[in-house]
Formats: sequence, C-alpha cells, structure tokens
Amino acid sequence: MTNSKLITLNDGNSIPSFGFGTYKLTGSEGQKAMEFALQNGYRLIDTASIYQNEVEVGNAIKNSGISRDEIFVTSKVWRSDLGFEATLKACEESLNRLQLDYLDLYLIHWPANSKHFPNWKELNAETWRALEELQQQGKVKSIGVSNFLVEHLSELLKTAKTKPTVNQIEFHPGYWQEDTTAFCKENDIVVEAWSPIARGEALSKDVITQLAEKYDKTPAQIVFRWIMDQQIIPIPKSQTEHRILENKDVFDFNLTEEEINKMKSIPEFGFSGYHPNTWSL
Ligand code: NDP
Repeated sequence: MTNSKLITLNDGNSIPSFGFGTYKLTGSEGQKAMEFALQNGYRLIDTASIYQNEVEVGNAIKNSGISRDEIFVTSKVWRSDLGFEATLKACEESLNRLQLDYLDLYLIHWPANSKHFPNWKELNAETWRALEELQQQGKVKSIGVSNFLVEHLSELLKTAKTKPTVNQIEFHPGYWQEDTTAFCKENDIVVEAWSPIARGEALSKDVITQLAEKYDKTPAQIVFRWIMDQQIIPIPKSQTEHRILENKDVFDFNLTEEEINKMKSIPEFGFSGYHPNTWSL
C-alpha cells in the first residue's frame, strides 16, 4: 500500500514522488485525516510552523505505528524567522512540536524580497547558512526553499555551500511558473507543487474533464498525473477520506506528451494571489 515511487535529490537522499499537504488540517479532525493518509500509503507529509499543526503531525506519525524512517517529514521556517539565529531557533521549536529528532526536509517558506528588505540577498544567504548548519548538526537531512523565483535562486547559489534540493512553488494547470520550473530542472532542484488542483478550481476545466473520461480517472487524478509526468511532486491536501484515497490512485497510467502540452495551454486561472515579491509583512 505504500507510495513506493521515490525521486533522488541532488544530495543523494530520496523523496516520495507524491505527498500529503496539511495546510488547514488542525485539531483532532485534522490529525485524524493525517493518520488516515499515513495508514493508507502516504509517506510524505508537508507541514510548516505557520500552519500551527506540527503537534498534530507529530501525534499522527506516532499513532500511525509506522516507523519514523519510513516517513518523509517536511517543515518550513516562516517569514518572521528569517536570519541565521532566528532560523536555528525556529527549527528547534518545530522539532519540539513535532516530537521528532530530525526533519527529512526543511524549507525557507518565502524568500526575503526587495520590497521589504533592502538587504534581501544577505538575509536569504544568512537564512540558508542556518539551514546548512542544521544539516551539519543532523537535525535536518535535506534542505531546500519554497516560493523562490529565478532571481532569488540565482542569488542564493552565489553564496550557498550546499545547493537547495527542492523548491516548493504554486504549480497547477492554471499557473505553472515556466521560468522557475525550467531553472530548477537545469540546476537539479526538484520542484514540489503546492495547491496542485488550485484548491479545486482545476477540476471543472474541459480539457481536464475530457481526459478524465478518456482514462476513466477523476479530474483530480488527471491533474496529479500531469504534474508527476513532469517529474514534479504534488502535495494535495484533503480532510475527506474518500478523496485522500482517490488522490493517491495515480500510479497506473500516464498522459501523452500531446496531452501534457494541451493542459499547459489552458488560459491562466486559479492563481492564489500570493507572490514572493509582494508579500506583506
Ligand atoms: P489543494 O490544491 O491541495 O486543494 C485543497 C482543496 O481541494 C481542499 O479544499 C480539499 O477539500 C479539496 N480537494 C482535495 N482533493 C480533492 C479531490 N480529489 N476532489 C475534489 N476536491 C478535492 O490546495 P492547498 O492550498 O491545500 O495546497 C496543498 C498543500 O500545499 C497545502 O496543504 C500545504 O501543505 C502546501 N502549501 C504550501 C504553500 C507554500 O507557500 N509553500 C502555500 C500553500 C500550500 P477537502 O479537504 O474538504 O477534501
């Protein structure tokens, strides 16, 4: 039942090719959904300090009875904790809430940007230095970023001793960030897709419903396959048991190149409005 397909990161570690998002999953209901996902084959669980559910994630891992080394746990340092010392502290606090000794992946949730930080380049470099330190200390196995555009990544690469393994970005058929994705591919950085079904908006698009009919799959499954066929990792969130099962049933078909491109030609829709260069303090 496990989600056995793995992708090798540029640091040699492996990451599952499909994950479980947990934004908005809180309290006992949220924890129940996480436990259900783990018990039904999900092995990548994505949280962040800002989601305020790291305790529930930790409890779900414990209650699942699955051994720690079989589960890939991601958390993220929030915008208010950028910088070397603050990031070290934030990671320690996340580990405490998660009741874990180490994270599999720790991400800078959003880059410092030029709108709010004249010293954005240095601040991102210092935050990254903290992630490198956490990796050295064994508190984090792999390190990466989230919501980094090409400009943020190329600056970071100038000072980084260790390359980011992952960039987690908004990625769905309505907003698939071609430049950032191409830059990540060129630099051997794996892309993870957040809001992979655009929070449901993708599911009624004609091109997608037609492919669902052709493959006898649901529109959500078509979208996840479209993402995975581009070697990108979808991390859908659901607190509904039948959808949690539906979403991971995507390992028995592939889309053609033509179908992938057809889905890329749907006019833009569903952008969350969250942009790395305009986020407010
Ligand atoms: P998703 O695109 O995963 O959509 C989630 C919504 O879609 C929920 O309302 C869910 O409903 C519904 N849904 C899930 N599966 C199906 C299905 N098969 N059919 C119909 N509806 C479905 O959006 P998210 O924004 O939650 O993104 C996923 C994850 O990405 C987050 O949980 C988080 O972990 C991460 N993320 C990261 C960000 C970042 O800045 N790095 C930003 C935003 C998200 P229900 O729960 O009721 O089943």
